[in-house]
Formats: sequence, structure tokens, C-alpha cells
Amino acid sequence: MPNRRQVLASLGAASAIVAFDALSPGWVTQAQADTGAGGIPVPRLDGRLVTDDAALGEAADDYGQIAHRRPRAVLRPGSVDDITAVVRFAAAHRIPVAVRGQGHSTFGQAQAPAGVVIDSRTLAKIGPVSRGSVVVDAGATWLDVVRATLAAGYTPPVATDYLGLSVGGTLSVGGIGGASSRYGLQVDAVREVEVVTGDGRLVRCSPTVERELFDAVLGGLGQYGVIVRVTLALVPAAATARIYHYGYPDLRSMTAAQRIALADGRFDYLEGQAVWSGTGWTYLLEGGVYGGNPDDNAILRGLPAPVTTEITSMPYLDWLNRIYAVIEQLRPLRFPNPWLNLFLPDKATDSYVEELLSKLTPADTGNGPILLYPFSRKRLTRPMVSVPDSPVVFILSILRVVAPSDDAMVQKLLTDNRNAYERALSVGGAQYPIGSIPSRSGDWARHYGASYPRLRRLKAKYDPSGILAPAQGVF
Ligand SMILES: Cc1cc2nc3c(=O)[nH]c(=O)nc-3n(C[C@H](O)[C@H](O)[C@H](O)COP(=O)(O)OP(=O)(O)OC[C@H]3O[C@@H](n4cnc5c(N)ncnc54)[C@H](O)[C@@H]3O)c2cc1C
Repeated sequence: MPNRRQVLASLGAASAIVAFDALSPGWVTQAQADTGAGGIPVPRLDGRLVTDDAALGEAADDYGQIAHRRPRAVLRPGSVDDITAVVRFAAAHRIPVAVRGQGHSTFGQAQAPAGVVIDSRTLAKIGPVSRGSVVVDAGATWLDVVRATLAAGYTPPVATDYLGLSVGGTLSVGGIGGASSRYGLQVDAVREVEVVTGDGRLVRCSPTVERELFDAVLGGLGQYGVIVRVTLALVPAAATARIYHYGYPDLRSMTAAQRIALADGRFDYLEGQAVWSGTGWTYLLEGGVYGGNPDDNAILRGLPAPVTTEITSMPYLDWLNRIYAVIEQLRPLRFPNPWLNLFLPDKATDSYVEELLSKLTPADTGNGPILLYPFSRKRLTRPMVSVPDSPVVFILSILRVVAPSDDAMVQKLLTDNRNAYERALSVGGAQYPIGSIPSRSGDWARHYGASYPRLRRLKAKYDPSGILAPAQGVF
């Protein structure tokens, strides 16, 4: 155990935490210790464990602006050793711990009520590209990863629509984007992970070493360990993106076109949207071809005829980063975002979406986007990401915004989300757990199905004190 002087030297301020008082329970700052407060000394750290109001407030906040649960401390790690030390300390004293990447969850998923939030932003190094891969700290954003790898002529195969998310944050959920039609999810391009387990062990895992843990943490919602560093497989990057927007008056024409394009792989990127026309929903297929000099007529061939066509070209990075500026403008406005994110089996998608959208107007979305696009299940290799048992799966994302903020409206939309989720379950759907669906007992057992008892055993093995990512409510 370090002595008092070592602890002080590492923390270096009166507001720094020097001990944990299990009886209050709470953290003891140097100033409190000076007035006689006792407690168990915290481990020596390279970074800082802080309790100031701004840090706790930020950690109790996320993009959703709906759930606000304050931790008692925030760790700004200066090293992986800090994470190991604090997780081990927290496990010994049964203190809840959650990692917060960029806090872009929408329903408090990265919060640790009365616990410690690990702010991963302070560990964000990106290594050089080597042999088609790159080693990055989990706190790095995808924007920084993309910029660094593009400099070497490479790119991660799948980018989320918004690049301001942390690597650890999206790898904890799956990470989907338009290129998932070709490459699966972001978790499918991970070669190796360094993890701090819930009992504070640093473990390196891959498909051939400690495979059980590798399988558990990718898409594992932070339940089995803290992802601290990953090796990402890359693909050669194109310089340009040619983007095709095909407008359809009805849902079934767009999804028919998407199914054809998914099957023949004509696009490197495939998404779609529902767009309000003023009187009803219309649909927009969004396809992208990266690099080369695509033949626009060949790209359209064999698809249902669109009623509108718009084709644009731009630099590849501009395309990947197209919504960054909008999100950066929206975020400080702090409007609630009760998002609904569902995976639907192909067979049920058309009727489910038609029924849902027939009752939906922009008043229910706040003009937030509605995304709908398919991917092939066979491209998914990571067992923790639960999607419907169907060769083709659609993701439906209703990205609601409540602007201006209105509590009654938020509550109504949360109820709507719950009802839509129940209906999705009844047709074989599942949730993509990044959104805001009020949970009920039995949800996770149903989500994971026959695997759930095994996941309980994994939780007991890798997080025996049950401290990690409590707000997900998985166990
Ligand atoms: C504007 C916007 C656009 C988005 N677009 C997409 C998209 O195109 N595709 C997509 O798939 N998702 C998308 N998302 C959702 C996003 O991927 C998830 O919410 C993701 O978890 C957010 O990353 P984050 O760094 O903000 O994580 P946080 O919200 O900080 O954390 C999310 C969860 O992961 C856990 N976690 C975070 N880091 C780690 C770690 N290092 N180790 C272990 N657990 C960890 C947290 O404890 C928490 O449970 C979008 C979200 C927003 C707000």
C-alpha cells in the first residue's frame, strides 16, 4: 500500500481524492483528510480521481439528456495501470464502475450511480499503421482513427455515421454503418483487445488467445471488462466517394432496391431513410461507391426505378465525416433524444415499418432522422451482438429529438418506444442497445435467449463483484 506522501505526490491537489470511506460511503479529499477524515487510502495514480461538481455533472449526463445519475468520483486515467488499480480497488469495496467514452449513449448506459466513472478520453493514443492494422487506445475517437489511418492510405472498414464516438464505446455495442453491408460491424474488424477485467486483471485476448474474454467484451455492453486498447484490421482507403440518392414514393420499393443492392454488393455503403414530404413518408436509398470511376447507369441497373435521383462525389473523409459539424452544433443545446433503435428480421421489416410509420409524424420525431437499411447476418462474427435469426437483418433507427425540451413529451415517446419494442419482439426483432427503451424485468434474458445463463457465468467469472456498467441493467 503506498504511503500518504506518495499518494499526495501522485494527486497533487487539495481536491484530489486520497481515501475511500466505506461507511459514509464516500471518497475523502485531501482537504477533508486534513480536517481529520479517515478511510482506506486509494492506490497511487498517474492520473487523477476527481469529485468536483463539473466532473460529476458531466459523468451524469449523456447525449440522450434523459437519465442523470451522478457518480461519486471520476477517474481521469493517466495510464492503463490507473484503470487496473481503480477497478481492483472498486471490486474490493464493491463500488460500481462504468467507462464513459464520449457519452453518446441516450439512456444513461455509461453512468455509474454513486460509483466511479472512468473517463476514457485521457487515453487516446493511436499507433502507426502496420501490416494493415493499427493499435489504438479505447478512448480515441473514430475521427482521429480515420484521420491517422488515412494518412497511411488505410481506413477502418466500417465507420459509424458520426465519427465523434469513442472506439471503446462503439466496440462495446457493435458499431454499425453503411459499410456493414460489406464488412459486418466494427467489432468484426477487431484482431486483438486489451481488457481490464472486473477483478482488475489486464488481459490480452484475441480469437486465438483468451478467446472467451475476446468474445465477451466485443459487443458486451461493458459487462465483462474495460476495453483499454484494440488492434483494428484496416482496408485500403479510396480517395473519393460517389454517393447515390434514389427517391422512392413507397417503402417497399426502397427496401426491394436495398435487398437487390445488398445481394449483389454494388455499393460499398448502403443505407436508407424515411423522409417526410409534408403529407406523408417518402423513402431515400443512399448508396456509396468508393474510389474508381463508377458507371452511374450500371449502378442503377436492375433496381426499381426511383422517382428522383441525385448523384454527388466528394473526398472520402468528407463523406465519412459528413454529420460531425451538425452533431457538434446540436450537442450543446442539450435537447432530449429518446432514440429507438431496432434490428428487424427481413420478412417482418416491410409490414412492421409500414405500420409504425403510419402512426408517426414529424411531431413524434422532432424532425430527427429515421434510418432503415439492411445487412447480411453472415457477415457478423461476434457472438455478443444479438440480432434476429434471419439471413438479412434491417436496422431501424428513429432518432427522435425533443426540441424544445418537454418532459411530458419525453415520457410519451419513451412509452411509444417501449410499445414499438414489444411489437418488434413479437415479430422476431431485437433492440440495438444504444437507445432509450424503458426496460422491464426479463428483457435481457429474452434479448440473449439461450445464451443468457452462459453470460451470467461469464459475468461471475470476469466481474465477480458485479461492479461493471451497472446502468445497462443486464444482470
Ligand atoms: C450522433 C450519434 C450518432 C451515432 N451513430 C451511430 C452509428 O452510425 N452506428 C452505431 O453503431 N452507433 C451509433 N451511435 C451510437 C453509439 O455507437 C453508441 O451510443 C456508443 O456506445 C457511443 O460511444 P461513446 O464513446 O459515446 O460511448 P458511451 O456512451 O460513453 O458508452 C456506451 C457504453 O459503452 C461502455 N463503454 C464505453 N467505453 C468502454 C470501454 N472502453 N470499455 C468497456 N465499456 C465501454 C459504457 O460503459 C456504456 O455502457 C450514435 C450515437 C450518436 C449520439
